Amino acid sequence: MKRLLSLLAALLLLMPIGCHAEQPHSAVGYACDTVVTITAYAPQETVDAALALCTAYESVLSKTRDTSDIYALNHANGAPVTVQDETSEVLRIALAIGEQSGGAFDVTIAPLSALWDFRAEEPSVPDAELLSQAAMRVNYKNVMIEGNTVTLQNGAELDLGGVAKGYIADRVAEYLTAQGVTAFCINMGGNVVTHGRKPNGAAWTIGIRDPNGTPEQSEEVLSVESAAVITSGNYERFFLLDGVRYHHILDPDTGMPIQNGLASVTIIGTESALCDALSTACFVLGEQASIPLLNRYDVRAIFLYENGTRSEYPPER
Ligand code: ADP
Ligand code: MG
Repeated sequence: MKRLLSLLAALLLLMPIGCHAEQPHSAVGYACDTVVTITAYAPQETVDAALALCTAYESVLSKTRDTSDIYALNHANGAPVTVQDETSEVLRIALAIGEQSGGAFDVTIAPLSALWDFRAEEPSVPDAELLSQAAMRVNYKNVMIEGNTVTLQNGAELDLGGVAKGYIADRVAEYLTAQGVTAFCINMGGNVVTHGRKPNGAAWTIGIRDPNGTPEQSEEVLSVESAAVITSGNYERFFLLDGVRYHHILDPDTGMPIQNGLASVTIIGTESALCDALSTACFVLGEQASIPLLNRYDVRAIFLYENGTRSEYPPER
């Protein structure tokens, strides 16, 4: 027995450390307008490089960075623009969900989202006339993609806010996996992608925020291995005026924040870009109208309501 134990101890000492560090390393930064935290059982340099990738992709997909493909498209006055592979890829996902959601998800929401400033010191509801004029320029069908050439027709402008974070998390996950990292968690402002199990065999735990609680309070905690858990909530960016919550998920037809009783929609799946677009689409559609859309995909959904009720897709049996 004693010999066995010393043999075991010797074996443990001899075990190569490898790149799958037993201790996780984290990197925290700010990208895509939100706090990004990456935790991985990997060397610190790898985690730092993963975080830097978020900023690199943001500079391609952000509508405000004047270096980005999206900025170039929005300022091209309808002329064709050659874009990077990532831009055409994320646009294809956005347009597919646009089509399948009957336009509830609309990546050309920019003229409407630009009229709202949720962080202003004294925020206000945009002028009705301006909203209806801007709404006329919102239609995902005005985005033409041929290979890597994109053309925006009829004054369309892009805002990838509903899908870019999810897409970037997929790319960062791909990078970490290619580096041989077998356990990591990417958290972009509550949009989470996990991979593998921790070296001690534990799964990752992800809290879904209680819409009526503080940002730290979880309504429920999910335990997952490799998954994307993406939430769209009316508490992310909002202001209150005369008892009404004006928030950042907009009806593409009117430009007004969606008021359908929902407080958040969480989508759990594998591809986070898809889950991100779906979370926004389902918030706009409401639970009943979301079912045909969700049926097309291998995903789960959790609908949390302002009145505290909750339901799930597929329904609990
Ligand atoms: P979060 O960014 O908080 O994770 P979402 O994924 O739901 O939440 O994205 C909300 C963002 O999506 C908005 O800030 C805006 O940029 C964009 N957006 C708002 N309404 C729509 C819509 N109907 N279709 C597509 N994008 C939208
Ligand atoms: Mg989304």
